[in-house]
Amino acid sequence: MVTSSTNYYVPTHCPGCMRAFLTPDRAGAGVSVSCKNCGGLARVVPGEVYRAEDAVLFAKIEAAFDSVDLPLAETFHIATELANVLERTRSPNMLLRRLLLPVPGLRFLKPTHPGEEELLVRGMGMLLAIAAARVQQAVEWPQLTPSPGISDD
Ligand SMILES: [Zn+2]
Repeated sequence: MVTSSTNYYVPTHCPGCMRAFLTPDRAGAGVSVSCKNCGGLARVVPGEVYRAEDAVLFAKIEAAFDSVDLPLAETFHIATELANVLERTRSPNMLLRRLLLPVPGLRFLKPTHPGEEELLVRGMGMLLAIAAARVQQAVEWPQLTPSPGISDD
């Protein structure tokens, strides 16, 4: 658990506009912060923490994911696949290849030089936070989601 440091950034999701972004970790999980996009109340997504320099990568991944507007079932499927930490860290390239079908905008994550695989693994963790937050929203606020299709029992 990270304590009271603004050097750390946490994924934040806005149920109003469905966008996600990195926020300085001042509030802590469960506390609301203002959405950068619509000004609504956004919520910190529990999970991995990042640094300020990760914000650009996070924003690129979020934009790529948001642009395809996947059905909830597909988002759920992606979140489930990414939740497999072992596969995410051991064979990230194989995972990315599968993700490029529904989310072609993630192509930029493909490692072209040695050492870039670390970036890919980090990006996968970010995508998990983004996808999981959308699934979570559909469960908690089905009225905000056009086609729920997932129940939490
Ligand atoms: Zn918003």
